[in-house]
Amino acid sequence: MRWQQGRKSRNIEDRRGSAPRGGGAVVGRSGPKLGGLMTIGIVIAGLIFGFNPMKLIGIANSVGGITSGSGSLTGPSSGGVQYDPSARTDDQAGQFVAAVLGYTEDTWNQIFKGYGATYQPPQLVMFEGSVRSRCGTQSSAAGPFYCPGDKKVYIDTAFFRELQNMGAAGDFAMAYVIGHEVAHHVQNLEGTSMKVQRQQRQVSKIDSNRLSVLTELQADCYAGVWAHHTQKRTKFLEEGDLEEGLNAAAQIGDDVLLKKAGHTPHESMYTHGSSAQRQQWFTEGLRNGRIENCNTFRQAGVRLQ
Ligand SMILES: [Zn+2]
Repeated sequence: MRWQQGRKSRNIEDRRGSAPRGGGAVVGRSGPKLGGLMTIGIVIAGLIFGFNPMKLIGIANSVGGITSGSGSLTGPSSGGVQYDPSARTDDQAGQFVAAVLGYTEDTWNQIFKGYGATYQPPQLVMFEGSVRSRCGTQSSAAGPFYCPGDKKVYIDTAFFRELQNMGAAGDFAMAYVIGHEVAHHVQNLEGTSMKVQRQQRQVSKIDSNRLSVLTELQADCYAGVWAHHTQKRTKFLEEGDLEEGLNAAAQIGDDVLLKKAGHTPHESMYTHGSSAQRQQWFTEGLRNGRIENCNTFRQAGVRLQ
């Protein structure tokens, strides 16, 4: 990936070195009350990876999103500082995240404009160990995630090393992860996340998982759409990059993760989709560059209301 020359986003909060450790220290003060639990729906916000899928499913249940359309979406104050990419040129991980986030901003700007809409970019929080969000306190074991409630993407930059350990090496594998989380933000802006959460509250656990899978696969497809248009605009991909992305999609399929954790994979346990499904939808977006082609819900005969 030729990411070095990419414009570095400044929509980044650096909370590395200020993580709440051992559940003790509080980073900043807690945010405004969430208006009771009614606003917290179960959403598989953006947990793309789980080193232990069963644990991940548990964590997913605790990740809430704001669903009541409340206008006051200011997040908890963080204790983090705005990341200045130009002052931290020695920080490879931060520079990379800033460049990829910059690519997502420019490309989604362009796509939204094509529909006569304005893209509001998310904030990205870099953290270490664990982090507080409007979706609760998450540890890095849960993997990168997006919280619809505060419209922020959360990434522990140490996770990139984990990716390599999981057999998903390469810079484009990491870019795909960021692209996938930003895609959850796009789903939030579209109103899809809210509709999914509403529907999830009314159905069985198995059907709720199924909705989660369709949401995740759509995010994979959107990540492909993003890569398609970014490539058109900037030629940022190098030989082998697409293979890295596809390999990453395969390594994080629910079937692969469940097997690694010693379980027999069964579709009813899936929350993100199988390796084959994840690859298929990422490829779909990549090939066509059309968000209309990413309607995983319609294809599965699910009508979101
Ligand atoms: Zn996700």
